[in-house]
Amino acid sequence: PGFLPEYPARAVVDLIAIRDNVVALRRAAGGERETALMAVVKGDAYGHGLLPVARAALAGGATWLGAAQMGEALRLRQAGITPAEARVLTWLYAPGAPLEEAILAEIDVGVADTWGIDAAADAARSAGRPARVHLKVDTGLGRNGLTPAALPAVLRRAAELRGLVEITGVMSHFACADEPGHPSIDAQAKLFEDTVSAVEQAGFTPEVRHLSNSAATLTRPDLAWDLVRTGIAMYGLSPVPQAGVPGAYGLRPAMTLEARLATVKRVPAGSGVSYGLTYSTPQDTTLGVVPLGYADGIPRHASGGSFGPGGPVLVGGGVDDVASREAGPGSARVVRVAGRVCMDQIMLDLGPYATEQAGDVVTLFGRSDGVEHAGAPNAEDWAQAAGTISYEIVTRLAARVPRVYT
Ligand code: PLP
Repeated sequence: PGFLPEYPARAVVDLIAIRDNVVALRRAAGGERETALMAVVKGDAYGHGLLPVARAALAGGATWLGAAQMGEALRLRQAGITPAEARVLTWLYAPGAPLEEAILAEIDVGVADTWGIDAAADAARSAGRPARVHLKVDTGLGRNGLTPAALPAVLRRAAELRGLVEITGVMSHFACADEPGHPSIDAQAKLFEDTVSAVEQAGFTPEVRHLSNSAATLTRPDLAWDLVRTGIAMYGLSPVPQAGVPGAYGLRPAMTLEARLATVKRVPAGSGVSYGLTYSTPQDTTLGVVPLGYADGIPRHASGGSFGPGGPVLVGGGVDDVASREAGPGSARVVRVAGRVCMDQIMLDLGPYATEQAGDVVTLFGRSDGVEHAGAPNAEDWAQAAGTISYEIVTRLAARVPRVYT
């Protein structure tokens, strides 16, 4: 499938990469122990598409799917992913959430507040079957989760509600796993160990105890417990700032964002480009107009001008570009966004010798034609240009950008 005639940009998602990345992460997490993997598919699978990604991750051997929002967890079941194929966990909801529906759909629920345990029991009563609960404990992230101080009361309540609630899991989440060696990592790991002991001493035998995100999975396999919850690395993006990490673990980026040039035009030196005229062409040159802007999720902070270079774009490759693939690494070059990112378009200074024409494909990030072009941008480069993290670059990609699966 090529570009839609009415939408000259697309996100090509390589589901084989997702599947292979899950295999690689299971290997990284496993070591001597049998560690299961939960594919974290919240945020529409970090912008890659909930259902195709969920299925690809299961094909790679994931046995759990994790979604923060209950609506996404329910969608997995509604789409036909059965309890025999995957356990599903959801952990972020407010009072009034459809817990009964979740229980009937055999979705495990995280309990992160004292009200949650009673809400789960009430829903179990109406559903006529027990709620499977993962106690979500805040060991130091300072986000949703039971404080260690609140835990004893919740355990007492859970004991009273035995038969209605089953404690199937204990979980926590790291604050600084992306900074290997940060002292909070060991502090959280210790508190998690204490929490697990407290839960077990209270007479519960949780089936899965889980703490690690992608960064911890790769850098601290000793903390893998029974299950790792991997998001970003499964999409082939780096969970840590160090260069070369995904490749070192055999991970490859799943998403390529590309577009066809809408306009190519010659302009003289000194031409102002885009709102505010923040970029001025240093010489006679060729401008290319890319039909992607902030309505598509391209960050306006990645604008280019006198204040600094804009987001990087590969000119010359393209997922379906057989000629550039055959021509090899020298066949594409990187240019920068010139001027402000607009709602629907960005401009590129293609340089004085450009031979591009309207309709040619440019790549904002990803594997393009599969050739290792020097300096080819990835989502991390866009994150750097915009002062954010790669998670946001892929997750914010607007729903209107067509996703194409290979
Ligand atoms: N576990 C929980 C509770 C999360 O909220 C997230 C996402 O932030 C993850 C796991 C996955 O994190 P990462 O994408 O860094 O692997």
